[in-house]
Amino acid sequence: MIPTRGYATQGPTADLEPFSFQRREPGPHDVLIEIQYCGVCHSDIHQARNEWQNSIYPMVPGHEIVGRVARVGSSVTKFGEGDLAGVGCFVDSCRVCNNCKDGEEQYCENHLVATYNGTEKDEKTPTFGGYSSQIVVDEAYTLKVPDSLPLERVAPLLCAGITTYSPLRRFKVGEGQKVGVVGLGGLGHMGVKLAASMGARVTVFSTSPSKEKDARDLGAHDFVVTRDPQRLEALAGKYDFILDAVSAQHDINLYLNLLRREGVLALVGAPEKPLEVGAFPLLTNGRALAGSMIGGIRETQEMLDYCAEHGIASDVEVIPIQRIGEAYERTVRGDVRYRFVIDMSTL
Ligand SMILES: [Zn+2]
Ligand SMILES: [Zn+2]
Repeated sequence: MIPTRGYATQGPTADLEPFSFQRREPGPHDVLIEIQYCGVCHSDIHQARNEWQNSIYPMVPGHEIVGRVARVGSSVTKFGEGDLAGVGCFVDSCRVCNNCKDGEEQYCENHLVATYNGTEKDEKTPTFGGYSSQIVVDEAYTLKVPDSLPLERVAPLLCAGITTYSPLRRFKVGEGQKVGVVGLGGLGHMGVKLAASMGARVTVFSTSPSKEKDARDLGAHDFVVTRDPQRLEALAGKYDFILDAVSAQHDINLYLNLLRREGVLALVGAPEKPLEVGAFPLLTNGRALAGSMIGGIRETQEMLDYCAEHGIASDVEVIPIQRIGEAYERTVRGDVRYRFVIDMSTL
């Protein structure tokens, strides 16, 4: 076993504190990654605090992981020692169900092995995430990380990047389309960058007028303050696609109304309570409401390669691990531009 240091929480109201645990020795198909940076995703906070009622303690959060390969198993072909590598929201899956076979492992029908707050395929051994010195992962679930982008800005691509890239691709967002991004946080800011890079005309919908400059700097062409319903009414039927990245309660009917005929609103945020959907905002124009959750390994690699080609990375605030509590508070308040990333050398 490999002695590993990390930060863990022992319960829903406990702070994250230094924690020691063991990683498995790399098997034939595993890579051992020395973690350099780990992003702070809002879902880390939900799970650390048991807000989804499924938490396993002690918990080492973190699923936006980048680092260097320190050791490879005897059968590993994709990686060599010293290569950059990334790990996202899951580290294994059943590999035999239809969704796994189609490369959509995130929707595994049997057992998706979450990077943390989950169990290995034995359904007993807890998984521990990226707020730690190292991780051991099967190469099939490890991503190649381009060396042309600053590593700390790549980390959030492993969750926020793929979560927004996947629905933009699935619904074929491209040149000449009008795209709305609702909510300018960790997910939304990646949605803006990616949709703009694909040639869409992007509007950010936000409750905060103060975010207009940032939205435009990120690549948005238009900015609408949603506190003014008349502004939204004037835009009815004008959008091809809307990416809804809001995790708080909000009225999605306002945004459904903005879609043209057969337009799609894709939810990527996860509000705690059910959203109310009126029939008419959906029936009118034959609109569709879709959901999307992260992405498969193949598409995540495609996203990383796309980001390298287009020079796209997350906007981040790098913090030492000792400031994780403050980072959580600020993330909950929406006071971050646009992702905290932990420098794991401070562990
Ligand atoms: Zn995440
Ligand atoms: Zn499966």
